[in-house]
Amino acid sequence: MIQKHNPGAPDVVLIGAGIMSATLGTVLKELEPSLSITIFETLEDSGLESSQAWNNAGTGHAANCELNYTPQREDGSVDISEALKVNTEFDVSRQLWSYLVRKGAIADPRGFIHPCPHMSFVWGKDNVAFLRKRFAAMTASHCYYGMEYTEDRATIGEWAPLIMDGRGDEEPFAATRIITGTDVDYGALTHLLVRHFSAQPGVSVHYKHRVMDLDRQHNGGWRVGIEDVETQERYAVTSKFVFIGAGGNAIELLLKSRIPEGHGYGGFPVSGIWLRCDESAVSDRHHAKVYGKAAVGSPPMSVPHLDTRIIEGKKSLLFGPYAGFSTKFLKHGSLTDLFESITPGNIGQLLSVARDNIALTEYLIGQVLQSSAHQFAALRQFFPKAARKDWREAVAGQRVQIIKPDPQRGGVLEFGTELVAAEDKSLVALLGASPGASTAAFITVGVLEKCFASELTESGWLPKLREIMPTYGIDLAQDADACRRTRADTAAILKVDNI
Ligand SMILES: Cc1cc2nc3c(=O)[nH]c(=O)nc-3n(C[C@H](O)[C@H](O)[C@H](O)COP(=O)(O)OP(=O)(O)OC[C@H]3O[C@@H](n4cnc5c(N)ncnc54)[C@H](O)[C@@H]3O)c2cc1C
Repeated sequence: MIQKHNPGAPDVVLIGAGIMSATLGTVLKELEPSLSITIFETLEDSGLESSQAWNNAGTGHAANCELNYTPQREDGSVDISEALKVNTEFDVSRQLWSYLVRKGAIADPRGFIHPCPHMSFVWGKDNVAFLRKRFAAMTASHCYYGMEYTEDRATIGEWAPLIMDGRGDEEPFAATRIITGTDVDYGALTHLLVRHFSAQPGVSVHYKHRVMDLDRQHNGGWRVGIEDVETQERYAVTSKFVFIGAGGNAIELLLKSRIPEGHGYGGFPVSGIWLRCDESAVSDRHHAKVYGKAAVGSPPMSVPHLDTRIIEGKKSLLFGPYAGFSTKFLKHGSLTDLFESITPGNIGQLLSVARDNIALTEYLIGQVLQSSAHQFAALRQFFPKAARKDWREAVAGQRVQIIKPDPQRGGVLEFGTELVAAEDKSLVALLGASPGASTAAFITVGVLEKCFASELTESGWLPKLREIMPTYGIDLAQDADACRRTRADTAAILKVDNI
């Protein structure tokens, strides 16, 4: 490999310029301003893959009303533990963003976050009974203070006129609402973060530069092989620490690093389609993210929702996602991605997952075979008077679910995110899809605790970390006062609603 214009040997290499690298880079530079950090990104700008606003759902994924986070137990009770976890992880993001607004690094929070009520909406006797129980379980926690419940169609119609307009009375309905929800443009946020932190000494961002290889060095650290996408020239840099924040491509780079901790991991891509409406006569009548119940076998993040989106100051509606299947690991990726990720080390795990997930396979086949008429019929279940002419298809980002080794079953499919680190903590990869963007700050804390634990001391990074994330070390699901305080503080700074 040619040694080209070596941008030195940075302390940290971040692969990919999405919300994850942007968040980790920002926090690391706040904690240790002397660090040199280099980002390599294949595309021509930051935040163009899954983090781009139209490629994800932009939820302040606070696990408020997404029903997939609160499964019903065998005995009929509702388990809210996962929801509480995600809900309080979003508080960590709010704290980081508030810190950046306070210090002037982000000029106006309205550049990326807007208040937007979150709702759950169900129909049918069993679903109504489930939502009633869910509401009781959720509001027993201070985290869901202010959540409302109704079975009254006039009230639901007031909360979200489009979903009740033209609906008959043939079955019971129920809805919950929490007005403290948000809509977040993670693409805009990625830009704001990268712009701020790349202006600091020691930071460089190389667009149109693809990371090709990762080789462990004998004296510790990594040799990172790069290709200039335009000229195809190759060169290498060395670094003590590498973060693989390459989104769907993280699995491929993890396998290339050949760390034993990555052995047996694989990826399963799920693509998505939205229906999108930019007609202001329609979008002005809806101000909420309304989540329904998922179809049997669907992956958890495919729960249909009718969302208000506020992107570049313009309000639109989004419905979906309809899941699909593509062998690409990135929206801008290649159809060979899935096949190239299959190795002798993970083929067994992949086959086990195929064997154990027949319902998911059937669901995906069903989704792929859906005609646009079927898709529109699904929208009409939410919005009975939707007019075909107001909606068009938009391709969402790719979600690469984690396939991981399992001693009993060979391999299992995981729907969250996971950090896989080298034993010497010199490299860490973020695998998985969702919740991702909204919990980027919490994931960053995970990277710090895994890979920089020796710096997290009173004489090291801890005091600054507490300034950035004041509730670091506090369980907000347990500490009601701390939870109330941080929500009030961050709501005021981020200009979102608080109750
Ligand atoms: C349909 C859909 C809905 C979603 N909804 C939500 C939601 O509501 N809330 C939420 O929190 N999350 C949601 N997510 C997940 C969220 O979008 C992701 O978790 C998040 O954007 C991931 O950020 P990232 O920085 O890891 O990856 P990305 O934004 O994908 O960035 C990775 C970057 O790495 C670059 N790259 C890849 N390989 C290389 C290489 N070899 N060399 C250099 N650069 C490389 C890519 O070009 C890309 O720019 C959703 C995702 C999808 C697809």
